[in-house]
Amino acid sequence: MHPHVRTALSLQSVDLQIGELQREIATLPKQIAEIEKLLASHVAKLELDKAASEANKRDRKNLEAEIQQQNQKISKLRDQMGGSKITNDQYRAFQHEIEFCEKAIRKAEDRILDLMGEFEPLEKAVKAAEGALAAEKKVVDGEKSKARARSNEDKAQVARFTAGRKELAAALPKELLNKYERMRVKLKDGLVVVDAAGGLCAGCRLTLRPQYFEEVKKGEEVHQCENCHRILYYEEAQSFEDLVDQSAAEK
Ligand SMILES: [Zn+2]
Repeated sequence: MHPHVRTALSLQSVDLQIGELQREIATLPKQIAEIEKLLASHVAKLELDKAASEANKRDRKNLEAEIQQQNQKISKLRDQMGGSKITNDQYRAFQHEIEFCEKAIRKAEDRILDLMGEFEPLEKAVKAAEGALAAEKKVVDGEKSKARARSNEDKAQVARFTAGRKELAAALPKELLNKYERMRVKLKDGLVVVDAAGGLCAGCRLTLRPQYFEEVKKGEEVHQCENCHRILYYEEAQSFEDLVDQSAAEK
């Protein structure tokens, strides 16, 4: 392989890794926002349950006050009924009013019972949600700091790669570097330096002319695909002995 092509290939490898890291860095704030949104929805649900629980208590208190009022009214009416100068008609009217008060009391008592029935599960739900939420907040905080640490690591890595990239770029002839950069932009970070294995451009899948493929194989110059203009490289297939040596070294 021509040394400039090898350098361009290394440059591309660094660029791909930088791109990968930058994509990850970009997704982390979104991840955090999503975790926070879920937590916020759980907090909102708890607030609703709490408000319902408070309303339940308030309603019962009001009903109890009403019962007390009706009872006071009844005892006042009874006092009036006990008076000596009362006619039969008046007596009946008082009695009628007492019945009316008693009916209101029963109605209020029934409603209190209903409310108590509703209050129990509501209170249980609030208690459970409060516990779950405390645990969830802890998890969310952990996730957030993990995401932030990851993001910082990625950024440090990008800085290291960027420094390495500078060195590789400086090692390339200006013309080749410009060609690489232009194509990288055009291909939207796709591959610029591609394998020509089997006499096929890995970029556009065009079959190279046999003679041209031979030249690419020799690697005496920098070659570009005649169709898509990507820079071509050819990696000499390793011999069986080399592969055996390699796997032995890896062990
Ligand atoms: Zn091509």
